[in-house]
Amino acid sequence: MGLKLFNTLSRSVQEFTPLDPAGKKVGMYCCGPTVYDFAHIGNWRTFVFADLVRRYLEFKGYAVTHVMNITDVEDKIIKGIRETKTTLREFTGKYEAAFLEDLKALNCVRPHQMPHATEYISEIIALIKKLVARGIAYQAADGPVYFSIEKYRGCGCTYGRLLQLNFDELRVGERVAADEYDKEALADFALWKARVPEDDEVFWPSPWGEGRPGWHIECSAMSMKMLGESFDLHLGGEDLKFPHHEDEIAQSEGASGKPFVKYWLHGAFLLVEGKKMSKSLGNFFTLRDLLAKGFTGREIRYLLLTAHYRETFNFTLEGLHGARAALARIDECLGKLHELGAPTSGPARANAPATIPGAGSETVAPNDLLSKFTVALDDDLNISAAWGEVFKWVTETNKRLAADSLSVGEAAAALVAWDKMDSVLGIGAPAAAEAPAEIVALLEARQAARQARDFKKSDAIRIELKAKGWAIEDTPKGPKLKKI
Ligand SMILES: [Zn+2]
Repeated sequence: MGLKLFNTLSRSVQEFTPLDPAGKKVGMYCCGPTVYDFAHIGNWRTFVFADLVRRYLEFKGYAVTHVMNITDVEDKIIKGIRETKTTLREFTGKYEAAFLEDLKALNCVRPHQMPHATEYISEIIALIKKLVARGIAYQAADGPVYFSIEKYRGCGCTYGRLLQLNFDELRVGERVAADEYDKEALADFALWKARVPEDDEVFWPSPWGEGRPGWHIECSAMSMKMLGESFDLHLGGEDLKFPHHEDEIAQSEGASGKPFVKYWLHGAFLLVEGKKMSKSLGNFFTLRDLLAKGFTGREIRYLLLTAHYRETFNFTLEGLHGARAALARIDECLGKLHELGAPTSGPARANAPATIPGAGSETVAPNDLLSKFTVALDDDLNISAAWGEVFKWVTETNKRLAADSLSVGEAAAALVAWDKMDSVLGIGAPAAAEAPAEIVALLEARQAARQARDFKKSDAIRIELKAKGWAIEDTPKGPKLKKI
């Protein structure tokens, strides 16, 4: 069975078929952070969701190009520079570094490309020029360049495809900024913002005078530059559907005349302790706030991944304690499987290495578990059902371990299956305690002995390590040290 995803564009669950005629390559763009502050847990829900999509596509064998932009020029950034009396680079650099650290803490695979808006000003200008040449964009008397929704619709294009709203009503009530007075229509949005004194040194030259790009055009320019005028997947939080994504479609299709994105995926909102996050309610958490409370990135990732991406999710501290308990159940089971399935010096197990993960040999994976896991995720990434399968398997495995009815080969095969599932889930193993140099040197000596097929020596080193309080876990990525 193939992967099915809910496409906001069609408002239906559709079979996922990449644009690549060979059906192999997938281009995926996720709107990244605006680096003016630390990302909060609601933002992280979206980024972890994007990570899940990317990991699952790779699990399915697709060759994914994952792009996430960094918005490093924007009103809030300019305000931040003024308030902190720093430069654009200093100000955004700090929050970008924090974002990347957080991304790592949540074990999100780093996107293949992370373009900065300020590095693509010439592409942005070229795109605006195209829209002006096609008569869809115009420069207002006071300097800014706007996208004309009326002209766009005049070309036979539809505005309002993600929300299917009457476009005349879409922007009613939206605040009209001081620099937007000369728009032809209220609905028009800025592609190029003319320089104002508050912008200070944040401006670039353009055919329309000094200024800076609007936020929406940045994503159109960077996504099409990296992935082509038409690509497969565009992700973001549901708050970005309108106007951001709607405007991205209009700008991109208005300029290229081609369909922009085949599948639009939107992650639902996150509540914290049952309420919309707000600083005044005390339920506003950045990832750092939660780490400071003693929770780990792994626990936070797990909790964010327990609910279906289209469901509003209530994130609670109690939920994080539950995540800790759930992970402990998985870890305990995996620990026992490792004890049974990993190479040991015991005579009864000495002949087992044929099915040991990481030994480079073929193993028999519990196909049933993997196929159920795949069926669940193929169904519009039904992660709750996938976890359901994982925990059923944990229960079953614990029963068999308790009854001593699991063979070494079965344990090793189960670990292989787990590693495959974990390539999607990304919860991995608990953070390894830092090993002293002497222990690391012993591990390296053991590896060398194994490579030389001197298993007697490698076993002796394992025993020595055990005596010093360290266990070795052999994983497909190589051996890991674990404090006993
Ligand atoms: Zn975007």
